[in-house]
Amino acid sequence: MTRPGIASLLAVLFVLVGSPAAARAAEGDSRPNIIYVMSDDHGWQAISAYGSNRNKTPNIDRLAREGMRLDRFFVGNSICAPARATMLTGLHSHANGMMDNRTVFDGSQRTIAKMLHAAGYQTVMLGKWHLESEPTAFDYFDHVVGQGTYYNPEFRRGGLADGYEQYTETGYVTDIITDKAIDWIENRRDTDRPFLMLLHNKAPHRPWDPAPRHLTLFDDVQIPEPATLFDDWSGRGTPAHTQEMTIAEHLFPRDLKFERPWNLNESQRRMWDSVYGPKNDAFNAMALAGDDLVRWKYQRYVKDYLRCVQAVDENVGRLLDELTHSGLDENTIVIYTSDQGWYLGENGWFDKRWMYEESFRTPFLVRWPGVIPEGSTSTALTQNIDIAPTMLDAAGLGVPDDMHGVSMLPVLRGHTPDDWRRSLYYRYYEYPGWHSVRRHEGVRTERYTLIHFYEPDVDEWEFYDLDADPGEMSNAIDKPRYAEKIAELKKELERLKTLYHVPPGEFYTVPEDGRRE
Ligand code: CA
Repeated sequence: MTRPGIASLLAVLFVLVGSPAAARAAEGDSRPNIIYVMSDDHGWQAISAYGSNRNKTPNIDRLAREGMRLDRFFVGNSICAPARATMLTGLHSHANGMMDNRTVFDGSQRTIAKMLHAAGYQTVMLGKWHLESEPTAFDYFDHVVGQGTYYNPEFRRGGLADGYEQYTETGYVTDIITDKAIDWIENRRDTDRPFLMLLHNKAPHRPWDPAPRHLTLFDDVQIPEPATLFDDWSGRGTPAHTQEMTIAEHLFPRDLKFERPWNLNESQRRMWDSVYGPKNDAFNAMALAGDDLVRWKYQRYVKDYLRCVQAVDENVGRLLDELTHSGLDENTIVIYTSDQGWYLGENGWFDKRWMYEESFRTPFLVRWPGVIPEGSTSTALTQNIDIAPTMLDAAGLGVPDDMHGVSMLPVLRGHTPDDWRRSLYYRYYEYPGWHSVRRHEGVRTERYTLIHFYEPDVDEWEFYDLDADPGEMSNAIDKPRYAEKIAELKKELERLKTLYHVPPGEFYTVPEDGRRE
């Protein structure tokens, strides 16, 4: 039989058995691979494609140059594990059950990994998982245990069968995770089928331990301070005054490198001490106080943070080079994002959690040659509930009606529909909790943010016109000129809660046991 003859026969057979995934595999599956690189706590202010005045990220910037940069991409709950659960499920926190960092993720629910796996995709998860339950529906996973450590991290690897192997690697976590990605692409992949790879960096999460090669990077420069480093929050409500995330007061000695990582080997320890030892001696000799001490802490904190970002950026470059080397660069979607935004000293803060722009808004860059126009940007309102739907759409699959998100592909192609969403829903739950940010929910449109701190002992509203006050420095909730807009947004908030089936009243309770961070 001739080749076309075989192909025709197979086509008939596959119509009969009704297996599109199997049919595609036999015909040479042309569906795109998807590599989803997500860092932990990487604020858009620390990416040069987003205009950073503090660092350069040439490899991440490549994705902006060769694809699209989203300028209004947000999360639904600005904290690590909930953001990961939303990415996997396309659902806001109340619907996937992951409202805080203490809950154990229910891996039996519908996830993007499960859906793509059922459709014939290979699924692989590498790096920081942070959902407490073991990954489900991944052909292969190799994830850091818990928060993981920057040096010599512990990993668990397994797959679809029950159980896992736990072991310790030697080296620097960001390099190791990308090593695993390259190894999987070169040695473990079934080349006949497309794949979904989740590559989740630990970096640049607290306590910001740089790679050995970056320990002295930025030593000879002063990193610019944000204009609001000494903010007194006088323009904001009560919750801004009761948080515990200031650079002035709330960084630990470990964060500031007065303590070293607990698990360095002998040579790493010598190297570490040779760098931080003299710097700490110099600090002690200065006996700084007041604003000078805050400025010093900012420099120490932000330099270590940016050093961690530097290793992330280099490893994005290694990954992109590997795709070219493997011939996968044309038909692979590469996404770079973070689980949420982050404070680099704005308002005097580090950490995340708030519905204010630094933590609510999140970087998102994506390359898909031939589909996403090179060097494009979009200001369409997009959110992490859209990630799973977008992946489904890219794989040629339908998006279930009960997912909260929608496919961003029209936006990414440069054709945002006229009826694209006009508002986003946000809710933060974890109080009492780390950094003492009060529970709140709100709505964000292109121009306005309305926030409700809804606990009975606070019950305060905040409103910001981002055109007039992009730094959200002055709560305009009582300004008469905005009264009509605020009333409209309060209605819009209720509309979104109905749309997403948010239960009425307070339905969140703090788990009794569980992790504290
Ligand atoms: Ca995070």
